[in-house]
Amino acid sequence: MPRLNENYLNIKESYLFAEISRRVSKYEEENPDKKVIRLGIGDVTKPLSKNVVKALKEGAEDQGSAESFHGYGPEQGYPFLRDRVSEYYAAFGAQVDSDEIFISDGAKSDTGNITELFDADNVILVPDPVYPVYVDTNIMSGKTIKYMSGNAENGFLPMPDDSVHADVIYLCSPNNPTGAVYNKEQLKVWVDYALKNDAVILFDAAYEAFITDPELPRSIFLIEGARKCAIEFCSFSKTAGFTGTRCGYTVVPKELCFKATNGTEMSLHAMWFRRQSTKFNGTSYVVQRGAAEVFTEAGMAECRENIAYYQENARTIAETLDKHNIRYFGGTHSPYIWFECPNGMDSWGFFDKLLNEVQVVGTPGAGFGDNGKNFFRLTSFGSHEATKEAMERIEKIL
Ligand SMILES: *Cc1c(COP(=O)(O)O)cnc(C)c1O
Repeated sequence: MPRLNENYLNIKESYLFAEISRRVSKYEEENPDKKVIRLGIGDVTKPLSKNVVKALKEGAEDQGSAESFHGYGPEQGYPFLRDRVSEYYAAFGAQVDSDEIFISDGAKSDTGNITELFDADNVILVPDPVYPVYVDTNIMSGKTIKYMSGNAENGFLPMPDDSVHADVIYLCSPNNPTGAVYNKEQLKVWVDYALKNDAVILFDAAYEAFITDPELPRSIFLIEGARKCAIEFCSFSKTAGFTGTRCGYTVVPKELCFKATNGTEMSLHAMWFRRQSTKFNGTSYVVQRGAAEVFTEAGMAECRENIAYYQENARTIAETLDKHNIRYFGGTHSPYIWFECPNGMDSWGFFDKLLNEVQVVGTPGAGFGDNGKNFFRLTSFGSHEATKEAMERIEKIL
């Protein structure tokens, strides 16, 4: 009998979205005449841009002819895409070389797989509330997690505690689920803390494209010293509507080195390259052709237009909350709005009230950690019409 990875016994049931869908299905079955509006799931609704689709088609055509056929590609991604990503960073002032970029099938896999580079003995620091992937993938690999508290007082932007040592730190900004964004001064404090503790920051920038204030950092590599202590994950999913097409990238700077117990210098860039070339044969050529198109002028314009569309929904949501003096976070540089449940309600209680009384579905904050138990997440990924109607309905119970 094989001995199984019993760390899996320690993962919490993937309860959140399963439980939401169970409650919604039950409600719909019992109330077939009621129209439910869903503003819960973090998935985009706008289709891919025309230019991206054209590039995907051209890529597929290439694969159909002997002269332009591509077999296995470079595990790290094609230079035609890595160069575009590098230029994209340069355009907002961050220096990232093309060969520090690893193209992937999305940020979820990379944020999970990166745990392989770290021994089980590390102190892993994770915010609460949090994107559950960071927690579950560390538990699966037998690591122990320390939580840092995000709360209304710190604007859901936890800062380092100098009395606590950490080896690996997860930060996500703009944040899922809270929509909160670190400024440069705050990130500098994190970078300094990481350098002092010989720690590494795993920075999830999946929502960077939602930042509209040029003073807010879209990459940790805008912070001095970050190249010695940070890895960044990014994705085409929310930026360019690739949730179903699948493409992302991870930046591992070449300076990022730590000493092994026997004194050997180990490079995280070399380790990640080895890991990827051993276990991953690269993102599809066709998808990389589509992703490269995102960085053209026309592609960028189309992405910005879609993001602006979602941002208008966020404003619609925020206006209603403002009108009723409900405290919220996010919604400006993020597709998420994270608000305090009215009248001290707990998040599942508020979920049931919204579903049963006005047929709107959101995400209970409790699903992202203990600190979310009185908060609720709405997303701006719906249509204008659905978002407006949802907020009119929600107003009736505020
Ligand atoms: C959506 C999301 C991602 C992107 O995941 P993909 O696998 O690239 O689709 C990464 N991190 C966070 C926090 C997200 O919400």
